[in-house]
Amino acid sequence: MENRILYYSTNRNLDHINGIVPFRGKVTFGEALLQGQAPDEGLYVPDRIPHISYEDIISLKDKSYVEAAMLVTGIFLGDEIDAGILRRIIEDSYPFIIPLQKVFDRKYIMRLDRGPTASFKDFAARMMARLMEHFRDRDKRLNVLVATSGDTGSAVGEAFKGIEGIDVNILYPRDEVSERQKKQLDTIGNNIRSLSINGKFDDCQDLVKQAFSDPSLDHLNFTSANSINFGRILPQMVYYFYAYAQLCRKRETIVISVPSGNFGNALGCEYARRMGLPVQRLIMPTNENDEFPRFLEKGVYEKLSPSLACLSNAMNVGHPSNLARFFELYGGTVDRTGEVHVYPDIETIRKNIYSVSISDEETKKCIKKTYERYSVILEPHGAVGWRGLEAYLEQCGDFPLCVSLETAHPAKFPDEIVDLLGITPEVPDSMKGIDESEGKSLELSADYKMFKEYLIDNLKSEV
Ligand SMILES: *Cc1c(COP(=O)(O)O)cnc(C)c1O
Repeated sequence: MENRILYYSTNRNLDHINGIVPFRGKVTFGEALLQGQAPDEGLYVPDRIPHISYEDIISLKDKSYVEAAMLVTGIFLGDEIDAGILRRIIEDSYPFIIPLQKVFDRKYIMRLDRGPTASFKDFAARMMARLMEHFRDRDKRLNVLVATSGDTGSAVGEAFKGIEGIDVNILYPRDEVSERQKKQLDTIGNNIRSLSINGKFDDCQDLVKQAFSDPSLDHLNFTSANSINFGRILPQMVYYFYAYAQLCRKRETIVISVPSGNFGNALGCEYARRMGLPVQRLIMPTNENDEFPRFLEKGVYEKLSPSLACLSNAMNVGHPSNLARFFELYGGTVDRTGEVHVYPDIETIRKNIYSVSISDEETKKCIKKTYERYSVILEPHGAVGWRGLEAYLEQCGDFPLCVSLETAHPAKFPDEIVDLLGITPEVPDSMKGIDESEGKSLELSADYKMFKEYLIDNLKSEV
C-alpha cells in the first residue's frame, strides 16, 4: 500500500562501522515488531509521522482509554491490521483504570501503575504481546528471551501469560532483585519460565545476546521484548492524548513531565507532539545519572559508565537506549555504544525539551513534601518526575495545565515509603498474596555453554 508507514534503521546513514553494514532497507510494522532491532543494530523508526487533527484529539474527552488507543495506534497500524482485531487486542490489553489525580490547581499526576505488575511497563508489554501473537508466523513457535533487573521482566512475563504459540524465558540476576520482585517473576507460571542467574544483570544480557547471535539456535525462532522494540513505543504514545483530552480547555497547551531512564516513555510523548498534541514542553527529569541534562547544558554528549545506583532503580541508565531515536528526530545519529556520529539540532531540542537531574536526597524530600502538603503518595520514580516539574515551573514561571507521570505503584517500594512517611502503602489487588505465594525458578550459572544446553533441551520449536 502506497500510504503505509514503513520502518528504517537509525544507523542507515552511517558509513560501515566496526564491521557493521548499515541496513538501508525498510520493513513493515509486523517485521519491525518481530525482529526487535534492525540487522545493523540500529533502532527501527517510522519513515513518516502521521497527524491527528485537534478535533479528533478532543473528541476523546469522556471516552474510554480503548477509544484513545484505537485512534492513536490505528493510524500507525490501520493498513496492516483489521480494525475489529485491533479493537479486541486493545480491549484485552487495558482492563484497568488510568487515574488522573489532582495535586493542586490544574497540576495532575497521571497514575500508570494500575496494571497487573503495577508499573507503566504493563501498557507497552501487554499490547506488544498481543500484537506479536497476531503478527507471528503461524508455522513456528516464537521464543521470547528477556534479561531483566526487575520491572521489565515481570511486565513482559505477565503480558505474555497464556498467549498462544509464544513461550517466554526471563533471566534475572539472583542477588540483584528484591524479594518481592523475585516473587513477581517466579510465580507467573504457565508458558513463562524464570531463570535465576548466578551473576549480574550484564551477565544475563550477555547470555541473551549470545543466544540471539548463535546460528545453531536459529530453529528456536527467538525474539526480544526489550525497550528498543518499536512495538513497545507505539502503545506509549496513547496516554498523552488521553490525558490531554480529559483535562484541556480550548486549544491550550500542556506541560508533561516523564521520569526517564531509557527514554522509551518520553519518546512516546515526543511522537505525540509531532502527531499534533499541543505539548508546550516535554520535561525529562533523570535521577543522578545525568548524561542527558548535561548534554542539553553543554551540547556535548558523554555517556555515563558504569551507571549510578539510585533509589529510582528502573532509571539507572548511563546511556539511554532510545536516545538514538531522539537524535534521529532532531537530525543527529548516535550509535549503541554512545558514540555521536552527527550531532542533532540542540537549539530545537532545548526549545521542546527540558531536563534536570534529581538527586536521591531531593527525591526523598519530594516524597515527603508531596504527601504532607497534598496527601499524594509518590514512589521514587514518580517523585523524580514531579520534582522535575517543580524545577521547571520555578525556572520558567507557572504554567496552567501540567501532568506528571507516576510510573510505579508505591507498594512496590514499601521500605522507602514507611521510612519517609511512616505509613504502609496500600497493596493493589494485583500484588495481594504475592508475598505468601510459592514461586519456582530454575537456577543457572552465568555460563553460555550451560545456558545453551538448557535452551536446546527445554525450548520448543514446533507450534
Ligand atoms: C522503566 C521505568 C522507568 C523509565 O522508563 P524509560 O522508558 O526507560 O525512560 C521509569 N519508572 C519505572 C517505574 C520504570 O519501570
